[in-house]
Amino acid sequence: MSMPSSEARAVVGLVVMPGDGIGPEIAAATLKVLDAVERRMQLGLALDEVPVGLEALRRHGTTLPDASFAAAERADGVILGPVSHNEYPPVAEGGLNPSGEMRRRLDLFANIRPARSRAGFPPRCGKAVDLVIVRENTEGFYADRSMFLGLGEIMPTPDLALSLRKITRAGSTRIAEAAFRLAARRRKKVTAVHKANVLRVSDGLFLDCVREVGARYPSVAYEERIIDAMAALLVRDAGMFDVIVTTNMFGDILSDEASEIAGSLGLAASLNAGAAHGVAQAQHGSAPDIAGRDLANPSSLIGSAAMLLAWLGERRNDDRLIAAAALIERVLDTVIARPEWRTADLGGPLGTKAFAQRIVDTVGEFTDANA
Ligand code: ATP
Repeated sequence: MSMPSSEARAVVGLVVMPGDGIGPEIAAATLKVLDAVERRMQLGLALDEVPVGLEALRRHGTTLPDASFAAAERADGVILGPVSHNEYPPVAEGGLNPSGEMRRRLDLFANIRPARSRAGFPPRCGKAVDLVIVRENTEGFYADRSMFLGLGEIMPTPDLALSLRKITRAGSTRIAEAAFRLAARRRKKVTAVHKANVLRVSDGLFLDCVREVGARYPSVAYEERIIDAMAALLVRDAGMFDVIVTTNMFGDILSDEASEIAGSLGLAASLNAGAAHGVAQAQHGSAPDIAGRDLANPSSLIGSAAMLLAWLGERRNDDRLIAAAALIERVLDTVIARPEWRTADLGGPLGTKAFAQRIVDTVGEFTDANA
């Protein structure tokens, strides 16, 4: 494909929201890597950092300032660090969950969560893993997403708490379409995960929608698994799955399991995507137990940023952005293959900063020969 010259190439405006816990550390590492990719490839990346989370609460009285959200909405893509929303005050006191708010307000309905074993680092159990969980992101059991007004959790009496789970035909159909489209470009298999034996109405509707979409993809094999059996099957051999499509909370839980089986939560990249916006976000939370200690593995957010570049590249028909994403992935593989270059979660000696520097150096000197 012919590409415009670098002078004519539009700038790719990315907004970075570092977040809480290990967020600032892994965001800084990701920025260093993107800088190195920019130096090597001159993609026209322009990075702008805006506050969210506890720092934003201290400075602006809210964990998601309007100006930060507006910057994200205007950007070509967003890199969002993990947030400690469990520690936030109530919404009335400024404690909005930036992750949930972004997913809802930007209509980021598909959370694409790959779990892939890295070269030279065997999976924790079973055979090599290369699967993608396609998780519905805007409804389900999430109390901040399932209602037009108010929250999806109510307490009619001090001794009775109720949670509402929202499943819609439109939401289920569009996530199923994302899953089948992806599977058609991969190993052509979709597994729908549900609990329709108990949640007959809501997961019944979800499955009806997935089957209807699946009928339009005859070349893609289709199967259904109940969530509890699926949790066990992943441990037995996650290698038998290609694309897994499921509702919001099942997808959240299964993807942590799949990523840990593939190596570590520290490797777990993800992209939140809608029709108009893409937000790179690690699968894991803010890991307060290791925050501020230079212990976090930034591969998760670096890999998420690569997914964002690939997503943008496909939307813009820009092969260079797709090549940049592939470069980052191959560099991650190359570095993680060396035990002496790994972070502590993978049994290695490197801290977050030294690992990021290793990735930066490898981006600078990478050739197919040293892969
Ligand atoms: P939160 O409440 O924000 O979800 P959490 O600690 O309960 O935080 P995670 O952040 O998902 O949940 O972390 C679960 C475990 O995985 C923690 O023990 C954490 O140290 C580890 N972990 C998560 N992310 C990383 C990472 N990038 N590198 C290394 N270890 C990680």
